[in-house]
Amino acid sequence: MRTAVLSEPGELAVEERPDPDPAPDEVLVAVGEVGICGSDLHYYEHGRIGDYVVEDPLILGHESAGEVVAVGDEVSGLESGDRVALEPGVPCRRCAHCKRGEYNLCPDVTFMATPPDDGAFAEYVAWPADFAYRLPPDVSTREGALCEPLSVGVHVARRGDIGVGDSVLITGAGPIGLLAMEAARAAGATRIFVSDVVESKLDRAEERGADATIDPREEDLGEAVARHTGGEGVDVVVEASGAESAIAGSLDAVRRGGTVVFVGLADEAEVPLDVLDIVDNELDVRGSFRYRNTYPAAIDLLADGEVDVEGIVDFEMGLGEVDAAFRRAMDPETVKGMVTIEE
Ligand SMILES: [Zn+2]
Ligand SMILES: [Zn+2]
Repeated sequence: MRTAVLSEPGELAVEERPDPDPAPDEVLVAVGEVGICGSDLHYYEHGRIGDYVVEDPLILGHESAGEVVAVGDEVSGLESGDRVALEPGVPCRRCAHCKRGEYNLCPDVTFMATPPDDGAFAEYVAWPADFAYRLPPDVSTREGALCEPLSVGVHVARRGDIGVGDSVLITGAGPIGLLAMEAARAAGATRIFVSDVVESKLDRAEERGADATIDPREEDLGEAVARHTGGEGVDVVVEASGAESAIAGSLDAVRRGGTVVFVGLADEAEVPLDVLDIVDNELDVRGSFRYRNTYPAAIDLLADGEVDVEGIVDFEMGLGEVDAAFRRAMDPETVKGMVTIEE
Protein backbone atom coordinates (compact mmCIF):
# COMPACT_ATOMS: atom_id res chain seq x y z
CA MET A 1 0.00 0.00 0.00
CA ARG A 2 0.97 3.63 -0.40
CA THR A 3 1.71 5.66 2.74
CA ALA A 4 3.07 9.11 3.55
CA VAL A 5 6.23 8.65 5.60
CA LEU A 6 8.22 11.31 7.44
CA SER A 7 11.86 10.22 7.41
CA GLU A 8 13.61 13.46 8.42
CA PRO A 9 12.26 16.90 9.32
CA GLY A 10 10.85 18.37 6.08
CA GLU A 11 11.13 15.03 4.26
CA LEU A 12 7.69 13.59 3.69
CA ALA A 13 7.34 11.15 0.82
CA VAL A 14 4.94 8.55 -0.51
CA GLU A 15 6.36 5.09 0.23
CA GLU A 16 5.18 1.54 -0.29
CA ARG A 17 4.58 -0.50 2.86
CA PRO A 18 3.07 -3.97 3.22
CA ASP A 19 -0.72 -4.03 3.69
CA PRO A 20 -1.60 -4.52 7.37
CA ASP A 21 -3.43 -7.66 8.53
CA PRO A 22 -6.24 -7.14 11.02
CA ALA A 23 -5.83 -8.93 14.37
CA PRO A 24 -8.88 -10.92 15.61
CA ASP A 25 -10.28 -7.84 17.40
CA GLU A 26 -9.46 -5.39 14.60
CA VAL A 27 -11.05 -4.06 11.45
CA LEU A 28 -9.14 -3.31 8.26
CA VAL A 29 -10.10 0.13 7.00
CA ALA A 30 -9.52 1.58 3.53
CA VAL A 31 -8.76 5.13 4.59
CA GLY A 32 -10.76 7.79 2.75
CA GLU A 33 -9.82 11.15 4.24
CA VAL A 34 -7.24 12.35 6.74
CA GLY A 35 -6.97 15.81 8.26
CA ILE A 36 -3.59 17.51 8.59
CA CYS A 37 -3.18 18.41 12.25
CA GLY A 38 -0.92 20.96 13.91
CA SER A 39 0.97 18.08 15.51
CA ASP A 40 1.65 16.51 12.07
CA LEU A 41 3.00 19.87 10.93
CA HIS A 42 5.13 20.15 14.05
CA TYR A 43 6.71 16.74 13.44
CA TYR A 44 7.17 17.66 9.77
CA GLU A 45 8.95 20.88 10.66
CA HIS A 46 10.92 19.93 13.78
CA GLY A 47 10.98 16.11 13.86
CA ARG A 48 9.81 16.16 17.47
CA ILE A 49 7.20 17.40 19.91
CA GLY A 50 8.73 17.68 23.38
CA ASP A 51 9.91 14.22 24.41
CA TYR A 52 8.37 12.53 21.36
CA VAL A 53 11.14 12.33 18.77
CA VAL A 54 10.82 10.86 15.26
CA GLU A 55 13.77 8.45 15.32
CA ASP A 56 12.52 5.95 12.74
CA PRO A 57 10.48 6.77 9.65
CA LEU A 58 6.92 7.53 10.78
CA ILE A 59 3.58 7.46 8.97
CA LEU A 60 1.86 10.71 9.98
CA GLY A 61 -1.87 11.47 10.32
CA HIS A 62 -4.37 10.77 13.10
CA GLU A 63 -7.62 12.43 11.94
CA SER A 64 -9.06 9.71 9.75
CA ALA A 65 -12.14 7.92 8.50
CA GLY A 66 -12.76 5.36 5.81
CA GLU A 67 -14.51 2.14 4.84
CA VAL A 68 -14.23 -1.24 6.52
CA VAL A 69 -12.92 -3.81 4.02
CA ALA A 70 -12.24 -6.76 6.33
CA VAL A 71 -12.95 -7.70 9.95
CA GLY A 72 -11.11 -9.95 12.40
CA ASP A 73 -12.72 -13.19 13.68
CA GLU A 74 -13.75 -11.72 17.05
CA VAL A 75 -15.30 -8.53 15.71
CA SER A 76 -19.03 -8.10 16.01
CA GLY A 77 -21.09 -5.05 15.17
CA LEU A 78 -19.06 -3.91 12.17
CA GLU A 79 -18.87 -5.39 8.69
CA SER A 80 -17.29 -4.72 5.34
CA GLY A 81 -18.83 -1.71 3.67
CA ASP A 82 -19.44 0.20 6.91
CA ARG A 83 -17.92 3.66 6.96
CA VAL A 84 -16.12 4.41 10.24
CA ALA A 85 -14.29 7.20 12.05
CA LEU A 86 -11.13 5.99 13.77
CA GLU A 87 -10.35 7.19 17.29
CA PRO A 88 -6.55 7.43 17.10
CA GLY A 89 -5.63 6.74 20.73
CA VAL A 90 -6.05 3.19 22.04
CA PRO A 91 -5.27 2.93 25.77
CA CYS A 92 -3.92 -0.08 27.69
CA ARG A 93 -7.37 -0.79 29.20
CA ARG A 94 -5.72 -2.01 32.44
CA CYS A 95 -4.17 0.90 34.35
CA ALA A 96 -5.79 2.97 37.10
CA HIS A 97 -6.70 5.74 34.63
CA CYS A 98 -8.30 3.32 32.23
CA LYS A 99 -10.27 1.76 35.08
CA ARG A 100 -11.50 5.18 36.18
CA GLY A 101 -12.71 5.81 32.63
CA GLU A 102 -10.24 8.64 32.09
CA TYR A 103 -8.49 6.65 29.40
CA ASN A 104 -7.08 9.76 27.70
CA LEU A 105 -4.64 9.91 30.63
CA CYS A 106 -3.43 6.32 30.14
CA PRO A 107 0.39 6.35 30.10
CA ASP A 108 0.48 3.30 27.81
CA VAL A 109 -1.68 4.65 25.01
CA THR A 110 -0.97 3.76 21.39
CA PHE A 111 -1.60 7.00 19.53
CA MET A 112 -1.49 7.28 15.74
CA ALA A 113 1.40 9.31 14.34
CA THR A 114 3.08 9.72 17.72
CA PRO A 115 6.51 8.05 17.70
CA PRO A 116 6.87 5.11 17.53
CA ASP A 117 3.24 4.48 16.44
CA ASP A 118 2.37 4.88 12.77
CA GLY A 119 -0.61 6.97 11.68
CA ALA A 120 -3.27 7.06 8.99
CA PHE A 121 -1.78 8.67 5.88
CA ALA A 122 -2.00 5.23 4.32
CA GLU A 123 -4.29 3.27 2.04
CA TYR A 124 -5.13 0.85 4.86
CA VAL A 125 -5.12 0.88 8.64
CA ALA A 126 -5.85 -2.12 10.88
CA TRP A 127 -7.43 -0.80 14.07
CA PRO A 128 -9.25 -2.17 17.18
CA ALA A 129 -12.92 -2.44 16.26
CA ASP A 130 -14.09 -0.75 19.46
CA PHE A 131 -12.15 2.39 18.48
CA ALA A 132 -13.82 2.44 15.05
CA TYR A 133 -17.22 4.16 15.09
CA ARG A 134 -19.80 3.55 12.39
CA LEU A 135 -20.91 6.68 10.55
CA PRO A 136 -24.60 7.08 9.73
CA PRO A 137 -25.48 7.82 6.08
CA ASP A 138 -25.88 11.56 6.69
CA VAL A 139 -22.38 11.99 8.17
CA SER A 140 -19.74 12.24 5.45
CA THR A 141 -16.37 10.50 5.56
CA ARG A 142 -14.74 13.92 5.79
CA GLU A 143 -16.89 14.76 8.80
CA GLY A 144 -15.88 11.40 10.24
CA ALA A 145 -12.20 12.34 9.96
CA LEU A 146 -12.93 15.68 11.61
CA CYS A 147 -14.53 13.91 14.59
CA GLU A 148 -10.97 13.93 15.96
CA PRO A 149 -10.50 17.70 16.33
CA LEU A 150 -14.23 18.01 17.12
CA SER A 151 -13.62 15.58 19.99
CA VAL A 152 -11.00 17.95 21.38
CA GLY A 153 -13.68 20.66 21.34
CA VAL A 154 -16.30 18.41 22.96
CA HIS A 155 -13.87 17.45 25.72
CA VAL A 156 -12.99 21.11 26.34
CA ALA A 157 -16.69 21.98 26.64
CA ARG A 158 -17.11 19.18 29.17
CA ARG A 159 -13.95 20.15 31.10
CA GLY A 160 -15.21 23.73 31.27
CA ASP A 161 -18.70 22.61 32.39
CA ILE A 162 -20.05 24.87 29.66
CA GLY A 163 -23.82 24.96 29.98
CA VAL A 164 -27.04 26.65 28.98
CA GLY A 165 -26.79 30.44 28.85
CA ASP A 166 -23.04 30.60 29.49
CA SER A 167 -20.77 33.24 28.01
CA VAL A 168 -17.48 31.92 26.64
CA LEU A 169 -14.25 33.47 25.41
CA ILE A 170 -12.16 31.31 23.08
CA THR A 171 -8.59 32.51 22.54
CA GLY A 172 -7.22 31.18 19.25
CA ALA A 173 -9.32 30.63 16.12
CA GLY A 174 -7.47 27.64 14.69
CA PRO A 175 -9.22 24.28 14.26
CA ILE A 176 -9.40 23.61 18.01
CA GLY A 177 -10.72 27.07 18.84
CA LEU A 178 -13.30 26.97 16.05
CA LEU A 179 -14.48 23.47 16.93
CA ALA A 180 -14.54 24.33 20.65
CA MET A 181 -16.91 27.11 19.56
CA GLU A 182 -19.16 24.54 17.85
CA ALA A 183 -19.16 22.32 20.94
CA ALA A 184 -19.74 25.29 23.30
CA ARG A 185 -22.75 26.40 21.29
CA ALA A 186 -24.12 22.84 21.20
CA ALA A 187 -23.65 22.73 25.00
CA GLY A 188 -25.87 25.79 25.34
CA ALA A 189 -23.47 28.75 25.42
CA THR A 190 -25.34 31.81 24.21
CA ARG A 191 -22.57 34.40 23.92
CA ILE A 192 -19.26 33.35 22.37
CA PHE A 193 -16.31 35.68 21.84
CA VAL A 194 -13.23 34.68 19.87
CA SER A 195 -9.78 36.26 19.84
CA ASP A 196 -6.89 35.75 17.42
CA VAL A 197 -4.12 37.78 15.81
CA VAL A 198 -4.82 36.60 12.23
CA GLU A 199 -7.54 38.71 10.66
CA SER A 200 -8.81 36.04 8.26
CA LYS A 201 -9.30 33.68 11.21
CA LEU A 202 -11.35 36.30 13.05
CA ASP A 203 -13.45 36.73 9.91
CA ARG A 204 -13.97 32.98 9.81
CA ALA A 205 -15.01 32.93 13.48
CA GLU A 206 -17.51 35.69 12.80
CA GLU A 207 -18.91 33.90 9.74
CA ARG A 208 -19.32 30.83 11.91
CA GLY A 209 -21.40 32.68 14.47
CA ALA A 210 -19.07 34.26 17.02
CA ASP A 211 -20.96 37.07 18.76
CA ALA A 212 -17.87 39.28 18.69
CA THR A 213 -14.23 38.90 17.76
CA ILE A 214 -11.23 40.48 19.47
CA ASP A 215 -7.81 41.27 18.04
CA PRO A 216 -5.60 41.54 21.13
CA ARG A 217 -3.09 43.65 19.18
CA GLU A 218 -5.76 46.33 18.92
CA GLU A 219 -7.53 46.03 22.26
CA ASP A 220 -6.53 44.50 25.58
CA LEU A 221 -8.23 41.11 25.95
CA GLY A 222 -9.59 41.74 29.45
CA GLU A 223 -10.87 45.21 28.54
CA ALA A 224 -12.54 43.98 25.37
CA VAL A 225 -14.31 41.18 27.23
CA ALA A 226 -15.37 43.58 30.00
CA ARG A 227 -16.86 45.86 27.36
CA HIS A 228 -18.87 42.94 25.88
CA THR A 229 -20.06 41.61 29.24
CA GLY A 230 -20.99 44.75 31.16
CA GLY A 231 -17.77 44.58 33.16
CA GLU A 232 -18.46 41.06 34.44
CA GLY A 233 -16.16 38.82 32.42
CA VAL A 234 -17.15 35.53 30.79
CA ASP A 235 -18.26 32.39 32.59
CA VAL A 236 -15.66 30.24 30.84
CA VAL A 237 -12.42 30.96 28.98
CA VAL A 238 -11.10 28.31 26.59
CA GLU A 239 -7.42 29.06 25.94
CA ALA A 240 -6.71 27.40 22.59
CA SER A 241 -3.83 29.51 21.28
CA GLY A 242 -0.88 28.59 23.48
CA ALA A 243 0.23 32.24 23.26
CA GLU A 244 1.73 33.57 26.47
CA SER A 245 -0.26 36.82 26.32
CA ALA A 246 -3.54 34.91 25.90
CA ILE A 247 -2.67 32.52 28.74
CA ALA A 248 -2.02 35.43 31.11
CA GLY A 249 -4.96 37.43 29.69
CA SER A 250 -7.40 34.57 30.28
CA LEU A 251 -7.44 35.44 34.01
CA ASP A 252 -8.46 39.03 33.20
CA ALA A 253 -11.28 37.89 30.92
CA VAL A 254 -13.01 35.36 33.19
CA ARG A 255 -15.63 36.44 35.75
CA ARG A 256 -15.15 35.93 39.49
CA GLY A 257 -15.90 32.29 40.22
CA GLY A 258 -15.51 31.37 36.57
CA THR A 259 -13.53 28.63 34.84
CA VAL A 260 -10.44 28.74 32.63
CA VAL A 261 -9.59 25.69 30.53
CA PHE A 262 -6.15 25.41 28.97
CA VAL A 263 -6.03 23.30 25.82
CA GLY A 264 -3.52 25.21 23.64
CA LEU A 265 0.06 23.98 23.80
CA ALA A 266 2.36 26.80 24.88
CA ASP A 267 5.76 27.02 23.26
CA GLU A 268 7.23 27.69 26.68
CA ALA A 269 6.16 25.23 29.36
CA GLU A 270 6.42 27.92 32.04
CA VAL A 271 4.21 30.98 31.73
CA PRO A 272 3.62 33.42 34.60
CA LEU A 273 0.08 33.28 36.03
CA ASP A 274 -1.26 35.57 38.74
CA VAL A 275 -2.00 33.09 41.55
CA LEU A 276 -3.52 35.79 43.78
CA ASP A 277 -6.02 36.41 41.01
CA ILE A 278 -6.92 32.72 41.00
CA VAL A 279 -7.34 32.60 44.81
CA ASP A 280 -9.08 35.94 45.17
CA ASN A 281 -11.54 35.32 42.38
CA GLU A 282 -11.95 31.65 43.22
CA LEU A 283 -11.22 30.56 39.67
CA ASP A 284 -11.29 26.99 38.45
CA VAL A 285 -8.20 26.51 36.29
CA ARG A 286 -8.18 23.25 34.36
CA GLY A 287 -6.25 21.44 31.69
CA SER A 288 -7.83 19.52 28.83
CA PHE A 289 -5.87 16.71 27.18
CA ARG A 290 -7.08 15.06 23.98
CA TYR A 291 -10.52 13.51 24.80
CA ARG A 292 -12.35 10.49 26.12
CA ASN A 293 -15.76 9.04 25.33
CA THR A 294 -16.38 11.76 22.76
CA TYR A 295 -16.72 9.96 19.40
CA PRO A 296 -20.33 8.82 19.84
CA ALA A 297 -21.29 12.36 20.95
CA ALA A 298 -19.37 13.95 18.06
CA ILE A 299 -21.07 11.67 15.52
CA ASP A 300 -24.54 12.35 17.02
CA LEU A 301 -23.92 16.10 16.96
CA LEU A 302 -22.96 15.86 13.28
CA ALA A 303 -25.92 13.63 12.41
CA ASP A 304 -28.30 16.06 14.15
CA GLY A 305 -26.78 19.04 12.35
CA GLU A 306 -25.89 20.61 15.72
CA VAL A 307 -22.31 21.36 14.67
CA ASP A 308 -20.53 22.21 11.42
CA VAL A 309 -17.02 20.90 10.85
CA GLU A 310 -16.67 21.02 7.06
CA GLY A 311 -16.61 24.82 7.15
CA ILE A 312 -13.16 24.84 8.75
CA VAL A 313 -11.63 23.01 5.74
CA ASP A 314 -9.58 25.21 3.37
CA PHE A 315 -8.46 22.65 0.82
CA GLU A 316 -8.03 18.97 0.01
CA MET A 317 -5.25 17.29 -1.95
CA GLY A 318 -4.45 13.69 -2.86
CA LEU A 319 -1.99 11.44 -1.03
CA GLY A 320 0.44 11.77 -3.96
CA GLU A 321 0.69 15.52 -3.25
CA VAL A 322 1.06 15.13 0.50
CA ASP A 323 4.27 17.16 0.74
CA ALA A 324 2.68 20.09 -1.12
CA ALA A 325 -0.41 19.74 1.08
CA PHE A 326 1.74 20.01 4.20
CA ARG A 327 3.52 23.10 2.91
CA ARG A 328 0.17 24.69 2.11
CA ALA A 329 -1.18 23.77 5.54
CA MET A 330 1.72 25.60 7.19
CA ASP A 331 0.43 28.95 5.92
CA PRO A 332 -0.78 30.80 9.07
CA GLU A 333 -4.05 31.63 7.29
CA THR A 334 -4.87 27.94 6.78
CA VAL A 335 -7.18 26.45 9.35
CA LYS A 336 -7.48 22.85 8.07
CA GLY A 337 -6.15 20.95 5.09
CA MET A 338 -7.39 17.47 4.16
CA VAL A 339 -5.67 14.64 2.32
CA THR A 340 -7.84 12.23 0.33
CA ILE A 341 -6.52 8.70 -0.04
CA GLU A 342 -8.77 7.01 -2.59
CA GLU A 343 -7.62 6.96 -6.17
ZN1 LIG B 1 -5.35 16.42 15.56
ZN1 LIG C 1 -4.31 2.51 30.67
